[in-house]
Amino acid sequence: MLWVVLAATFASAQQYDIVLEGGRVMDPETNLDAVRNVGIRGGKIARISSEPLSGGRVIKVHGLVVAPGFIDLHQHGQDLASQRVKAFDGVTTALEMEIGVPDVAQFMKSKEGHSLIHFGTTASHVAARSLIFVTPLPEGTILPKSGPATDQLATPQQIERIEQRLRDQFDAGALGLGMGIQYTPGATRLEVIDMFRTAAERKLPVYTHMRSFGRIEPGSAIEAVEEVIGAAAISGAPLHIVHVNSTCLRDTLECLSMIAGARARGLDVTTEAYPYIAGMTAINSALFNPGWKERLGIDYSDLVIPDTGERLTKERFDELHNSGTQKWVLVFANTQEMVDKTIPHPLIMIASDGAEGHPRNAGTYSRVLAQYVREKKVLPLMEALGKMTLMPAQMLEHSTPAAHQKGRLQEGADADIVVFDPNTIADRSTFEKPMEPSVGVHELLVGGTVLIDDGKMVQNVYPGKAILGHR
Ligand SMILES: [Zn+2]
Repeated sequence: MLWVVLAATFASAQQYDIVLEGGRVMDPETNLDAVRNVGIRGGKIARISSEPLSGGRVIKVHGLVVAPGFIDLHQHGQDLASQRVKAFDGVTTALEMEIGVPDVAQFMKSKEGHSLIHFGTTASHVAARSLIFVTPLPEGTILPKSGPATDQLATPQQIERIEQRLRDQFDAGALGLGMGIQYTPGATRLEVIDMFRTAAERKLPVYTHMRSFGRIEPGSAIEAVEEVIGAAAISGAPLHIVHVNSTCLRDTLECLSMIAGARARGLDVTTEAYPYIAGMTAINSALFNPGWKERLGIDYSDLVIPDTGERLTKERFDELHNSGTQKWVLVFANTQEMVDKTIPHPLIMIASDGAEGHPRNAGTYSRVLAQYVREKKVLPLMEALGKMTLMPAQMLEHSTPAAHQKGRLQEGADADIVVFDPNTIADRSTFEKPMEPSVGVHELLVGGTVLIDDGKMVQNVYPGKAILGHR
């Protein structure tokens, strides 16, 4: 009898659901970089060992990197087609944090059980403002058309109602507050501070697309960075500045030094970038209110419709900007030189700003690994992985203690794992073919479920789970 008990104990100690055998295991927090076997049980990483492990399934991954699945803090496309290309890019968690969704509870409900990768969102200031101005956003959109809800001042009563709406969204599990300040130019400095205070009440962070780009004063990108760092200092809310590259443009390094200065003074400020020279946004949004050409230093022909490659003229711009129908437009406003200086910077996390129409949706992570780690050799692999896993996980820890188990390849962590070939991983998406999946990801595990197996998507599994705020 004793023998049976001992045998059972022995078996359960040795048995794992899945074993990833013989890969180069990399963990950016502990700096482990060694050949190890990884035992996965119950959706968790149960064992990392140089001893052989036995499992229900053993996947040989010799010569491949075994890393935490990438965490994308900035993903607008939350549909299955976008999730599919994210998975091939190594992403196991993709969150809508920049702007947020109009209705957090509805978003969570619609995704549960239907998601390839983990999902979550911030509460949307833009959407709350639209709602209080009695022009709620149309179903499926996150940005309003330029109009009274974006351009007019809010009364103190309206600001109170926006705050109440945001508190309700926090209660529904939002991971913070999303503010696209440039999309609501009617929001005063005080409205912005009040919103930061509303997030700070719950100890939640603010993710923000800042008020303006370019060098023209008043209203430069430098002023925009000052505004949000000031609001963070005044309110105590942690701050994450999204796509510093596409807001700060030529002044990106200066903006990064401002962020470094704020951090040196004890403020909790972080930032991110994506590795492309063009941005993409809604052509009828307030971002294109008068003055955009001068501020961006570009012309109509630098705006391109993704589906057709059509370059805009003044007439076509006026038509699309005034239209009630929302169309995405690519905005070619940055230089390769600036992108190349930004991506390796130690303060930069990688985040895609992904949505269908722009190659960053499918290619961001593989592109960084191919171009900056392998080809240009300006970024060590471990550092690149840190920008894609540990740094975003640490940012998420403001919103949920569950994030301590993400972004790490350690015993006890969630089994969100990417297995890729560092010699071949590469993006395939282009401005002409933005939804081409990346190559080089051999295995992708989401919460211990294999989603990509031997380079192919497993059909009919939806292991993605909601990531909810602490409320
Ligand atoms: Zn943005």
